[in-house]
Amino acid sequence: MDDDLLAAIGACEQFVLVTDRAAHATIAVAIHDTTLGPAHGGIRRHAYGDLRAAVQDVLALASAMTWKCALADVPAGGGKAVVLDRPDLDRTAAYRLVGRTVQELGGRFFTGPDVGTTNDDLRVVRTATRFVAVDDGDGPGDLGEATATGVAAAIAALAARLGLELRGLRVAVQGLGKVGMALCRQLAAQGARLIVSDVVAANAVAAAADSSATIVAPETILRTPCDVFAPCAMGAVLDHRSAATLPARGVCGAANNPFADDEAPLVLHRRGVLAVPDFVANAGALIQGNTWHLTGRRVDRERLLRIGATVGEILDRAAHDGLPPAHLALRIARERLQRASSRRPPPLPGCADPTRPTH
Ligand code: NAD
Repeated sequence: MDDDLLAAIGACEQFVLVTDRAAHATIAVAIHDTTLGPAHGGIRRHAYGDLRAAVQDVLALASAMTWKCALADVPAGGGKAVVLDRPDLDRTAAYRLVGRTVQELGGRFFTGPDVGTTNDDLRVVRTATRFVAVDDGDGPGDLGEATATGVAAAIAALAARLGLELRGLRVAVQGLGKVGMALCRQLAAQGARLIVSDVVAANAVAAAADSSATIVAPETILRTPCDVFAPCAMGAVLDHRSAATLPARGVCGAANNPFADDEAPLVLHRRGVLAVPDFVANAGALIQGNTWHLTGRRVDRERLLRIGATVGEILDRAAHDGLPPAHLALRIARERLQRASSRRPPPLPGCADPTRPTH
């Protein structure tokens, strides 16, 4: 590993890399920060090019969770798990390994779904740990739907800042999985006009049937004129070049870390394209999972809709300060963490702080 990657790992409170040779499984778990509470974050299964790419992804996703918790006013910290997918992976054994690892973390990390992880996978995780949210009727409910509710509220707030309303708003949704499909349904119900694309054609056909959407090919969605581009597939979809030509007035979706480089949000900002920070818009699953974890109760819809109010405040303050919204949001999140850590009492002499890693 090179120095940059080691420094990024060192910025985390805890980083765990575990293998199960017989299952051809390698998993990584990053706990970025637990100042506000135990780390929360889903499990991503993805065919990474190499271990470096997987480690970079888990670190970026875990830190985004820290900012997300701080801005959603959720008493939790940032974490994430990734499973390195490969053709000969024993998937069940891999998710069991995740479960055992989460259990060994003893409640410092609470996990749930992310890209590539289904409810069946989460049931396997649950055989080894209780620190996992599974949508099983008696669990926290449909987390993808909760995320979509928050993103729809965020898009409504964005539309208002653009002088538009949801009725008639042209929204281009990239990725029609758990969140994208629910988002299309919710936006269509409020009168938005949808343009959709997915690398799995059947998903696009299903969304079109459900929401009277227009289908475009995955390679053309970034060139398709719309009011709001909603990335709901993988991250790193907009770089400085595509940001310079994106024919939209706003960006707001569920995809974590949608920018491929640091220039992209600045390019959008210079063009006057309002980009809602992903880690503010997509907090619905976190809020719902955390509420269920802490209280055993489902979250109120009103609580999810508050994401729209938060987005509105961030867009207004960012406009006032002349900053890209993500920069302002990050600044607010860091300030909240700093205030919380200065309030945190030091451990008693001779007593380990139970929220801090022991290895
Ligand atoms: P998912 O795996 O259910 O769906 C992703 C969809 O994107 C799939 O249908 C896939 O075919 C499609 N896709 C992949 N690459 C594509 C491309 N290049 N163009 C078009 N479509 C493509 O994932 P999800 O749970 O719906 O999550 C979507 C995004 O939102 C992810 O980035 C995830 O990290 C983020 N997110 C999800 C949640 C949640 O509650 N599920 C919460 C917060 C953030």
